[in-house]
Amino acid sequence: MTDIGRIKEALTGFVGEIRFNEPMHRYTSFKIGGEADAMIFPEGVDDLKKVVLGIKKQRVPFFVMGKGTNLLVLDGGIRGIVINLMSFRKLSLLPDNSLYAGAGAQLPLIARHAAGMGLSGLEFASGIPGSLGGAIVMNAGANGGEIGPLIRGIRILDMDGEIRDIKGDQLRFGYRSSCLPQGIIISAELRLKRSEKSKTRDKGRREIIRRGKTQPLSLPNAGSVFKNPPGDYAGRLIEEAGLKGLTVGDAQVSPLHANFIVNMGRATARDVLALIRMIGKKVETEKGITLELEIKVVGNNKRGRV
Ligand SMILES: Cc1cc2nc3c(=O)[nH]c(=O)nc-3n(C[C@H](O)[C@H](O)[C@H](O)COP(=O)(O)OP(=O)(O)OC[C@H]3O[C@@H](n4cnc5c(N)ncnc54)[C@H](O)[C@@H]3O)c2cc1C
Repeated sequence: MTDIGRIKEALTGFVGEIRFNEPMHRYTSFKIGGEADAMIFPEGVDDLKKVVLGIKKQRVPFFVMGKGTNLLVLDGGIRGIVINLMSFRKLSLLPDNSLYAGAGAQLPLIARHAAGMGLSGLEFASGIPGSLGGAIVMNAGANGGEIGPLIRGIRILDMDGEIRDIKGDQLRFGYRSSCLPQGIIISAELRLKRSEKSKTRDKGRREIIRRGKTQPLSLPNAGSVFKNPPGDYAGRLIEEAGLKGLTVGDAQVSPLHANFIVNMGRATARDVLALIRMIGKKVETEKGITLELEIKVVGNNKRGRV
């Protein structure tokens, strides 16, 4: 069977939307990335389950995406099926000051919703543009706050199509990392605290203003490219190495924040990767520090077969 034939077979019975040869640059904050063979938008957990079983049976590769804000998708695109969970975005209040949120819900919206209900804890996330699922995988954080400690538990669909509930403390959150069993996060429960609405809202707003001043938000980017090495800042090291403004094609080390690479128009993943290599080499030579990538590089350099 052809690659596309196997993908279609894996999607038998799926009722959500399917888009073939879908350009990934439309779905990434970098505005970069070749085509996915297929992108699907499951309508609910049962629909997602059908796909998971189909993927397993047909041995089709797959990739689960959130809001695409931490991704560099390569120019050859993604083989197989990209699962887009944008419709999994339900929010509801639970007892004990907890909040239920679907994995596709966006962090700033969850933070605003929580503040509106007089719940605090998520203000640090007011300007992090990812989804809850992506934030859990990355243990997203800012300004001393992190998502990990707020997670009471998550619900995943494992690769046998079974739903499993996992407690937050089993996820072993680290700096921009977590240990998830193989599967797809479908929702989570967040443990928050009662607080005055206006105070929580103001804190969130201040965080958004701070980002507007320090981050190059007017150009496509994927947030911090490198993790901060212990006791230091990747941005400081890159700036001291004299790399602000360094450009390859249309990819540039932001003159505003050295740990951001911006897409000035038609940057390719190849441009960004070349810049990443140059930064890594110079910082290593001048500072003796090996920088580790925070963004996730996914997909293929060239279009190939499944
Ligand atoms: C302007 C800007 C500012 C940023 N600031 C910050 C910041 O302050 N702090 C910070 O930590 N990050 C920051 N980021 C990076 C990014 O927003 C976070 O890492 C975010 O948590 C990623 O979420 P996402 O939904 O975009 O995930 P994606 O980029 O779509 O995916 C990230 C990873 O999560 C996996 N994934 C996503 N959803 C699921 C799911 N439901 N189940 C299983 N796996 C899943 C993907 O497969 C991938 O491996 C910033 C990015 C931008 C563009």
